[in-house]
Order: sequence, then C-alpha cells, then structure tokens
Amino acid sequence: MLKIRINGIVQGIGFRPFIYRLASQLDLKGTVFNTSSGVEIEAIGPEKDLQKFVEMIKEDHPPAAQIRSMDIRTIRDKKYSSFTIKESIPEKGITLISPDLSLCSDCLQELFDVKDPRYQYAFINCTNCGPRYSVIRDLPYDRPGTSMKNFKMCDYCHRQYTDPMDRRFHAQPVACPECGPQLKLLNNDYSEVKGDPIERTRELLLKGKIIGIKGIGGFHIACDASNKKAINILRKRKDRPSKPFAVMVLWEKLSTIVHYNKADTDHLNSIAAPILILKKKTDSVLPGIAPDNPYLGLFLPYAPVHYLLMNKKLPMMVMTSGNFQDEPIAIEEKGLGPLCDYYLTNDRPILNRSDDSILMPLDELTIMARRSRGYAPLSMDLPAGKVSVPTLGCGAHLKVTFSLCNGQTLFLSPYIGNMDNKKAFDFFNETIKIYQKWFKIEPQLVACDLHPDFYTTRFAESLGLPLVNVQHHHAHIVSVMAEYGINEPVIGIAYDGTGYGLDKNIWGGELIVSEYHQFKRYFHLKYMPLPGGDSAIKHPFRIAKAYLLSSGIDDSIIRGLSKTEGEVITRQIENKFNLFHTSSMGRLFDCVSAMLGLVKEVTFDAQAAMALEFLCEDKNGVNPKDVYPYRFEGDEIDVGLILEGVTQDIKKKVALSIIAWKFHNTVIEFTIDGVKRIHSSTGITKVVLSGGVMQNRIILSGLIRRLKEENFLPYVPVKLPVNDGCISAGQVIIANHFRKDRKV
Ligand code: ZN
Ligand code: ZN
Ligand code: FE
Repeated sequence: MLKIRINGIVQGIGFRPFIYRLASQLDLKGTVFNTSSGVEIEAIGPEKDLQKFVEMIKEDHPPAAQIRSMDIRTIRDKKYSSFTIKESIPEKGITLISPDLSLCSDCLQELFDVKDPRYQYAFINCTNCGPRYSVIRDLPYDRPGTSMKNFKMCDYCHRQYTDPMDRRFHAQPVACPECGPQLKLLNNDYSEVKGDPIERTRELLLKGKIIGIKGIGGFHIACDASNKKAINILRKRKDRPSKPFAVMVLWEKLSTIVHYNKADTDHLNSIAAPILILKKKTDSVLPGIAPDNPYLGLFLPYAPVHYLLMNKKLPMMVMTSGNFQDEPIAIEEKGLGPLCDYYLTNDRPILNRSDDSILMPLDELTIMARRSRGYAPLSMDLPAGKVSVPTLGCGAHLKVTFSLCNGQTLFLSPYIGNMDNKKAFDFFNETIKIYQKWFKIEPQLVACDLHPDFYTTRFAESLGLPLVNVQHHHAHIVSVMAEYGINEPVIGIAYDGTGYGLDKNIWGGELIVSEYHQFKRYFHLKYMPLPGGDSAIKHPFRIAKAYLLSSGIDDSIIRGLSKTEGEVITRQIENKFNLFHTSSMGRLFDCVSAMLGLVKEVTFDAQAAMALEFLCEDKNGVNPKDVYPYRFEGDEIDVGLILEGVTQDIKKKVALSIIAWKFHNTVIEFTIDGVKRIHSSTGITKVVLSGGVMQNRIILSGLIRRLKEENFLPYVPVKLPVNDGCISAGQVIIANHFRKDRKV
C-alpha cells in the first residue's frame, strides 16, 4: 500500500475528487483526505497500477493545483473495501490558499448552453475555477467561512456539491440562478435600473456611458474602448490625463491590435488572467487609451460577467481599477458615485480585494510589474536557513506589498499601492491581520525601510517588536537572491527612482556587492541636486535645470520652464537652499527626457522616463550604437560628461531618437564598466538586476545581453515584482541575517 503526502495548492481546486476519479478508474482501494498542510492519500492495488496512479497525479492534476512536494512511502496494507473521500482532519501546519481562478472552459461552455440550468448565470464556477482568495473569511476553506455563507444551496447545486464524481464536488462558491447571487444594475444614485442587467449595461456602454463593474477582486470602471469621447470623460473623472488604461479584449480581436507570442498567450489564458503589456501593431490602435505609448495593457475576460457583457458589438472595454487616485481598489459601489454613470453590481461580497496583476514580456522573460489577483496569496519557498523567526516585512512607500514569513515559507501580500492616504493604510493594516490569522504567523521580528517618515516605518515601530531598518536597494537585490536561492555574494545593479540611503541622501543608481547580511556600495551615480525634493519629480524641467546648472553646463537648451521657475531654481542651487542630493537613475532619465523637451508635467510614475524610452522605438529610431563619454571618479559615476554630450547633440539638432538611443547605450555601457571594475577586485560573476528602471525594456534587455557577452550571469526576478513590490520580501530576509549577526 502506498501512503502519499502532497503539499502545495491542493485544496479548494478539486484535487480530492480528481484523486477519487483516478483511483476509481484504476480500480484502486483506499482513501484521500485534506490535512491542514495538504492532501494525504492511501492507495492499495497492483504495483503497476499504483505506479501509474502516481504518474497521473503528477501529470494530469487539475490546472489550478500546484504540487510543491510529494512524499511517497510504501506501508503495510490496511483494510479498504473501496476508495473514499474522508472528511478533513484538523492538525497543526498551514493550509495554502488558492488565488482567484479565471473561468474554466467547461464552465464557459455551460454559460452559453441554453439547456444548462446555469445558462447565462454570472456566478457559474466549479472546482477548477471561480473566486477563492476574494471570498474567504475563515479557514478551513468551507462554505460557512466564505462570503457565500448566506446563500443556501438548492437541491440541484447540493447534489453536485456532494457528488465526488461531479466537477462541483465541494466547490465552495457553487451556485445557480435559483439559489445564488444575482446581478443588479444601479444608477449612480444607487437606485435600481429596470431590465436585464447585462443587456442594459452593454447598451449603455455602447452609448458611451461609464459603468462600474463589480468583478472578482474589486470594481472596474469600464467604457467602450473604441469610444474616444467616453475615454476622455473617464480621464477627466479619474483625473488621469494620460496614464494608459488597461483594455479587456475578446480573444478573436487580440491579433488585430497587438503582437504576441506563445508565452504571452499562455499568460493571458492562465488561471491568473493577468494584464500583459504588449506591443501595438500600429500607433493608431485604440487612440486615447495609451497615448504616445507603443504598448497596450491587455487582458482577456476572466469572470463570467465579462463573457456575458462582451460580444461582437462590444469586443473591447477599457477596464481600469475602480478607485479614486491612490486609493485601493473599491469593493463596494458605495462612495464611487461620481466616477460612474451606472454600477453593475451583485450581492456576493468581496472580502479580500486585489487589483489585476500586470506582467511585462521582454525577450524570453516575463517580469512582474504588479503581483496581485491570481497570484495572492500564493507563497514562495525560501532557501533553507534564511529566515529563523516569524518575520513581517513592511515594504517601503510606493507600490507597497508586505511579506509575512514563518521561516520556510514567505507569503507576499497582494499589491497594496502607494501609502498616501488613510484607505491605503487601512488596507495595509487589515490585510496583515488576515494573513497572520490564515497562515498562523505571529511575527517576532519586524523589518522596514530606513526612511524615518514612511507610514510603513512608523507602523513597524508601533508593533513594539525587535526591529531592523533595511536599506532599500539592499532589499531589492536580496529579494532576487532569495528568489533564485543564491548563496554567495553577488554584484547588484539597483536602478530606481528613490530609496533612502545610509548617508540620508536619496539613492537610486547603485552598484553594490550584496550578501544577505550586508552590502557594500561600490559605485553610484554622482550626487545631483534635487530642488524641493518630491515636487521636482513632477516637474522634470526643474530637474534638468538643476542638473545642468550644477554641472556647469549651458542650460539654454531647456525650454518650457517659466522665467520665475528658472530663477527660483538658480537661486536654490546658488544658495544650496532646499536641495536634496540624489544618485537616482530615475531622475537622470527625467533630466535627459526634459532636456529633449518631452514631458512638462509628470502625471504618473515614470512618465518622463518612458517617453525617453519610447523615442527609441520611433519609426526612425535606429540605434547608432554610439555612447556619450562618461567618467568614473572614485566611487561616483560622473554624469556631467553625459549631459554635456546630450547638450551638444541637441544644439547640433541631432534627431531626438538618436539622442535617446545614445543615452540608453551610455547607461548600459557605464553599468557594464562598473560591473567589470567590481569583478576585477572581487571575482564575482553573478549579477542581480532590480529596481523600477529595469521596467525599461531597452535598459533591461541591453544589460542582459551585454552581461552575457562579458561572461557574467545575470539574474532578473520573475516571481517577485522587479519594482518596489519586492522590497518587503528582501527586508524579511535581511532582518533575519542582521538579527543573527547583531542580536537585535
Ligand atoms: Zn469551472
Ligand atoms: Zn442552486
Ligand atoms: Fe526601489
């Protein structure tokens, strides 16, 4: 007899019925049951059938299952007369919770089958698909512990729910039109609109209305993606003049608007159903949605309500997060009133919110820009010995996630967002409590940023636990080391916008040697003055002026700065008044972008830097392969020569796309130069790349290519976000090593 213990995501996704069916098929006897840490199987049968059984478990398991480990032992036969599914036995250990799953093909077929009792039912689901994370309140994952608890199953649903041979056996959110949640269309004063909610919603969208649609992890705000007028109204209401919107698109339409490959479609069709940033086929694709941007964020329908709404007449919808700026995604229509004309809502509460996840394909890699719905609350196994006590990592300030770790397993929160308002703090605090309860982790150590004024830092301090403040760029690099289980010093390239430095300056263009417990800063961009700190980030022309002035370069090429603004900055530089000092790579991009006159006012993160990147993709943008001169001075990379080179080119009226290329080439080459210098004194060949600037495709792919040419081994995160979404994970690991060394 075989005893098989399986760990991983094996609960709430039809794993036990799958085992039951498999055993019946092979005529095995025995039992299968959930434990708090996975699934256990006992199976009796002829040797070759048992072998087949194990193989089929590995190969044919339900798509949403993730087998982490499988422990197989032969033990003495017990008496079994048949194969049964036994009730769960509680024990210590943690259950892994499944993320929300996109609609499966079987349910999709039933959704449009007129003979099926769930024909056109917006809450159809089964063990392979449907809401999970978003509907769970308590564990064990059983109906009373979910937001379905107030819906009493009808006989039809109950029969399926209790039949091990049925696709809906123990599918906790199972429901039908007789017994389950219902759609409702509301006016924006929340009074009900008569008529079929789906038909009415589609009609209204096609008339140019803006409609809040309750989805899985929260509300989307939708409009017809081909209606420019509606898009403009939406931009005004959301106070979002030019930031790209995500578009939900029918599969049939995809090939007409963007380029993609097999890996991309696998991601789009995956159970996580993320947004993918794909290259537009022509600049004129869907005007107004991603202005001046050669890429478009796309996803496929993933909830039944999306499939019901979309058809030939409405094949593409703008689907942006339902929230006011910087607030978490809304889970109730209440309060969103002014943003939408109508609300397509329902009576199944969303208990845990999560935004859509965003992936960026790049060559053969796919990096994460936002890890949320479809991934949260999936965990990551850490290399052994990295974390010795239960630890909470609180993240930084932008794109915040937190990480909770019990030692071996790290649970990363969904994307929380920017910590700029009360609702974001509440979301952060509440989700930490939920994760602690579910995963039974009582932190004994807390890690946060070095920045004294961050909300996350003050929150960490308020816990009264041993505390480690972790340097931002060290956390960037260590998160990637942990993802790849690297156990030796690496060269870290950490390029981003802002991170508080050990010297209290704003770091962000850092070449370090990193270990888990310490790092050494080898090179950084020369400190440049940032007049007025954060306000300059919104006004790149001010950055350019300050950078040129302080480098002694003629600043007459900067246009678009008012006389007064120019004078204020000049005085600030002269008197060294209200200046911050930064080695930020993000700011260097802002500066060059502004020198080329690209973006006067930044209204979303990295806008100016992206404009510079996109110049290279201009039709006439052929890479001249040239670089600007640069200079290493001590531990600084002097950018003055580069800015001088750019100025000369502007004066010579060199095409902007050529200047953009040369600048990107220069950043890549001085980085490789720095890496080689570090290598020559340390012998290290593993190079880790992290930070928001790595979302620049030209920089990331250029660095990877050049590192390989120079025989280095580049490591780029794919499980964790490349931007500040990874910081909390790095913090957790560093804090543990620091603790061992210094006995916090
Ligand atoms: Zn299904
Ligand atoms: Zn029912
Ligand atoms: Fe960062």
